[in-house]
Amino acid sequence: MTAAAAAAPYTTVIGLEVHVQLQTQTKLFCGCPTTFGAPPNTQVCPTCLGLPGSLPVMNRRAFDLAVRSALALNCTIAPFTKWDRKNYFYPDLPKGYQISQYDLPFSSDGWLEVVDPKGAFSRKVGIIRVHLEEDAGKSMHDEAAGTADTRIDLNRAGTPLCEIVSQPDLRSPQEARAWLNELKLLLVYLGVSDCNMQEGSLRVDANVNLHIPVAGQGGAADRIAKTPIVEIKNMNSFRSVERALTYEAVRQWEEWQATGTEMGKMPKQTRGWDDPAGITRPQRQKEESSDYRYFPEPDLVPVTVSEADITAARAAMGEPPAVLRTALESKWKISAYDADVLVNQGRDLVAYFEDLATRVGEGKVASNWMQQDVLRCLNERGGTIAEFPVRPEHVADIIARITAGEFDTSRGREIFAEVLASGKPVVDVVASMGIAAVSDDDLVTLCKELLAANPKIVADVQGGKEQAAAGLIGQAKKKNPNVNPGKVRQMCLDLIRGM
Ligand code: ZN
Ligand code: MN
Repeated sequence: MTAAAAAAPYTTVIGLEVHVQLQTQTKLFCGCPTTFGAPPNTQVCPTCLGLPGSLPVMNRRAFDLAVRSALALNCTIAPFTKWDRKNYFYPDLPKGYQISQYDLPFSSDGWLEVVDPKGAFSRKVGIIRVHLEEDAGKSMHDEAAGTADTRIDLNRAGTPLCEIVSQPDLRSPQEARAWLNELKLLLVYLGVSDCNMQEGSLRVDANVNLHIPVAGQGGAADRIAKTPIVEIKNMNSFRSVERALTYEAVRQWEEWQATGTEMGKMPKQTRGWDDPAGITRPQRQKEESSDYRYFPEPDLVPVTVSEADITAARAAMGEPPAVLRTALESKWKISAYDADVLVNQGRDLVAYFEDLATRVGEGKVASNWMQQDVLRCLNERGGTIAEFPVRPEHVADIIARITAGEFDTSRGREIFAEVLASGKPVVDVVASMGIAAVSDDDLVTLCKELLAANPKIVADVQGGKEQAAAGLIGQAKKKNPNVNPGKVRQMCLDLIRGM
């Protein structure tokens, strides 16, 4: 199979539907905890089990988090919204319906932009709607248990979910993946979800079809033919989403070439992504919304949202990643790429960077240390930036000593690594590495040796090329790694002048 080239004879049209679990202590319509990983069916009650006579009560905290998310996605918040029952049969849905929102979702008409920091694309993707609903339970088809049984865990049933439906505005699998990364980053910044895909806190379905220019007949203008929309399910990472969409675009193109316009008459279909095989397979025919027999939920009152509620949600938002990137670029004079790397690591890392940059007074220098030392070591040892033992004041101390000529950057890196390993203050590490131990007498002896061994450099400096002295510093460090490069340079120049 060939990958779709840049000049593909079609446009790939992609829309995404994302379900995100909101980070609440308790479920959407009952007081059961939402802790992940509890023994099966221990976080349930008559309401989330759907027992007769039990009544749901809305968790206002979940609603507030949902409003915060929708505002950050530039949606309009409805002043009045209600709940609906979405009826379907599945073993992990004990009530036989899901409480969701149908014709009056709490928010609609938003957008989220994704900009590739390397300039490959920039796309403002419309958001049709964001609504709130409850999650179903989990079916575990667990062959590891040694049986062919399917077991049901209802701990997750009733967990609050935000469903985010995008417009079909994405134009490549790469854009789709980047947009999902941006969405996830935003939701994590907002503190509304941990977006952990392994634990099911974020799930993605994708819609994809091709728009193919077809020459009109008898000199008529070209028209756009469209392949039937395919909904892809069962993707468990953003990488899988990209792979599945890439596969599906090519599959549709090949089918189009084989069947031509006949393909346009085929129904919408749902396909499942088989990750190990790297292919999509047909699943059941997609339901139309009439199959769900939606009707208003009689056990819950509609929700009203005041201007004060919206103001409060906005205040809780904080700066979203896109705003933060631009702010870092202009405040600290760093590149779009550098700002992207920092912001993508989360709010705490940005705070660390800003603390360091403030102490150093130089954004670019601070950003280099963040990327080459702090981030690299943080990734190697794991954990969060808050737990990272080398603090901004330590890094700033090292940078200040480099600037003062006490040692050079590569020695500074070694000191950073030693501060990290030993947990000692910079001043103690410098002492224990013997960096301050080179006496003036030793320095004079060393420099005299260097000058004797490098008559060409001496001649160059005497001829006015002072920068030639730089060639002595590397040699000095080979002889004694603890020498101060600035002092070596100055001493050599003084000695040459005195010759
Ligand atoms: Zn419950
Ligand atoms: Mn849904």
